[in-house]
Amino acid sequence: MSWRTTVFGAVAFTLIAVTAGAAWAAVTDNMYPTANANLACRSESGPDGNLSCQTDNRTLTYYMDSGGTNMLEAEDRTVVNSVMNNIYEPTDLSVTLDTTPEFSGSAETDIVYEESGIGVPSGSDGVTFCNNAADSLRCDQQYIRILGGGNYVQGLTCHETGHAVGLTHGQQASPQLSNRDERLGCMETPVDWDERLQDNNIDHINATY
Ligand SMILES: [Zn+2]
Repeated sequence: MSWRTTVFGAVAFTLIAVTAGAAWAAVTDNMYPTANANLACRSESGPDGNLSCQTDNRTLTYYMDSGGTNMLEAEDRTVVNSVMNNIYEPTDLSVTLDTTPEFSGSAETDIVYEESGIGVPSGSDGVTFCNNAADSLRCDQQYIRILGGGNYVQGLTCHETGHAVGLTHGQQASPQLSNRDERLGCMETPVDWDERLQDNNIDHINATY
């Protein structure tokens, strides 16, 4: 997703240094909130480019839109299932496909994947936004929109899912890295089609959840 970097620092928001003192040798802190990405998580009706949220707990449920104009085709669903089963399930997150999704209440399906360009920033192939913030740190339900036309590939799906669990780009990390630093794995932007999480992202996910 794109970020409006000009607004960082404009909002007074007290950070909780959730990863301070962690014992592993992380390359950089790219789990929201960081010193360079600290806007409060909030509900949005569509992507506004400002979003930073963790997901609300370690149980990560997901749904893929199965009808209408935002439907994922069979090959897209295969990619999403592969990313969730082979890249995210091996982390400390507990990942489950939810075929009877909840869109209201306090325990909504965590991630809804759509094939859609609505609100996707110019020059980007995908975006993630929080539909229902649980609090200023965590989101109960996030939407991932990825453009049609073959953009549902491993790297971008891993990238947008990373945003949905709180991971940031290199420029929002602390210390800042190039957005194309290889150590960011699939959180590089732009991201290559075959990227995976890699150690820095996995360590932050496991320390958070
Ligand atoms: Zn991104």
